[in-house]
Amino acid sequence: MDDLLIRGGHVIDGTGTPGRDADVSIDAGRIVAIEPRSSRSAHRAIDARGQIVAPGLIDIHTHSDFTLPLNPRAESKIRQGVTLEVVGNCGFSAAPALPERMTMHREYLAPSAPGLELTQTTFAEYVAAFPATSVNVIFQVGHNTLRLMTAGMESRPVTREELATMERLLEEALAAGAWGLSSGLFTAPGCDADSAEIVALARVLRRHGAAYSSHVRDEANRGAEAVREAIAVAEATGVHVQIAHLKLSGVDNWGGAGRLLHEIEEARRRGLPVDCDAYPYDTATNPLRNLLPRWVVEGGIPPMLARLGRAEVRDRLRADIARDGLNNFGRIPSWDVVRVAIAPNLPQEAGRTLGEIARRRSVDPLDGVCDFLVADRGETRILITSMSEKDVWEITGAPWVLVGSDANALATSGATSRGKPHPRSYGTHARLLGTCVRDLGLLTLTAAVHKTTGASAAALGLDDRGVLRAGAWADVAVFDPARISDLATYDDPHQYALGVSTVVVNGEVVVDGGDHTGALPGRKLRRRN
Ligand SMILES: [Zn+2]
Repeated sequence: MDDLLIRGGHVIDGTGTPGRDADVSIDAGRIVAIEPRSSRSAHRAIDARGQIVAPGLIDIHTHSDFTLPLNPRAESKIRQGVTLEVVGNCGFSAAPALPERMTMHREYLAPSAPGLELTQTTFAEYVAAFPATSVNVIFQVGHNTLRLMTAGMESRPVTREELATMERLLEEALAAGAWGLSSGLFTAPGCDADSAEIVALARVLRRHGAAYSSHVRDEANRGAEAVREAIAVAEATGVHVQIAHLKLSGVDNWGGAGRLLHEIEEARRRGLPVDCDAYPYDTATNPLRNLLPRWVVEGGIPPMLARLGRAEVRDRLRADIARDGLNNFGRIPSWDVVRVAIAPNLPQEAGRTLGEIARRRSVDPLDGVCDFLVADRGETRILITSMSEKDVWEITGAPWVLVGSDANALATSGATSRGKPHPRSYGTHARLLGTCVRDLGLLTLTAAVHKTTGASAAALGLDDRGVLRAGAWADVAVFDPARISDLATYDDPHQYALGVSTVVVNGEVVVDGGDHTGALPGRKLRRRN
């Protein structure tokens, strides 16, 4: 007798082929049969009539390493059908954390990991101590973290010895099962690395059969150049390159999605192992300090805060921004498109725009921004509406572009329910399957499921997840295609998505009748060395 039978649903198996009506039998964590009107018996049968039965969704780009220790039930994600999260992205990982850099490490990650206790740790100890969660987790080690541990926040090339140290720390992380290296070249200290430094580290990845993912050097005025830099890493080393959250920020760059997509498609046509992902929103989120020119954070957070108080620094900031736009985000119409998401030391300001805050205080907006950063000790996280919706839909609609929320798993109560975070934590995948497929018709349901399951598994090199077939791990999402939708908004982000009735992870039911069972069957997926 099997453990579970999901009966009567329409199976979209994640391979990109059209769906069929079938029953899915699960036993001992694996799918054992998919057949129409199955006569197999099971301890429990789930009625999926009128619903889609799909592989569990893969969120290929997340920051849930900063919240899963606080919210191991991964509420906002699992309720959208997500069963696997890839963490350690954009160059930031909580490990390795060396004793002599702990203060700098904590200050650095404060706007990204509010409430999380960061401790001194090797990568192996970190993975071992990571709690049991509801979702499967793939870990990456961050380039910014490796650099911070080695050269601190100094804005300069690394020495030969420092590079050797970074290579050793990378090898240790890979030996501990890290899937690969992520970079965040748009911000300090990663931005101080040249392409040669990245290629040197990618050669280490190559030796271990590991992968590279990149928040590229620029997503605004020099976006195409930055995408080419990432592609060149695949060309030089043969490692798989995942270009994160593809976007065009800044009003001067709107309308360029087609050209950017073409650049990556061309590389893929040449046989290079390159993928990219995106989230279906025109608004990004980042630490506020990252919007300022990169020199402002030289030496770390305390020197930045001291600098921001000085009038001549503000004049230089004003001139730089007038000339180049914001770092990584380009030119924005005004500070009214930037709103406070989480301000640990000024929590009452969450939800207000920086334009509004400056007007209230009758100060120049940039002075308002600097004052705010100082008052919040550099820990502010913001939302910035810097993309055109048309570009976002064009990127989302491309069937080969994968789906990464770029967000962490949150919950409507407890330690991760604070502030006004980006609604994508609660809505990315439901928005894809609801708004993008059903309401906007950007792509078919089969294509959308394929993106976020089978195609994502292939990009990760996983051969036993992301598809429904006998022998594969039983990660399954059951949802109503007419009802699935995201409810989270910028004003009221802490709202779970609708329409997902059952989620199974490694054969265990985690969402049952739309409610979380409390089960924590997720596995830490370690890359096989
Ligand atoms: Zn990023």
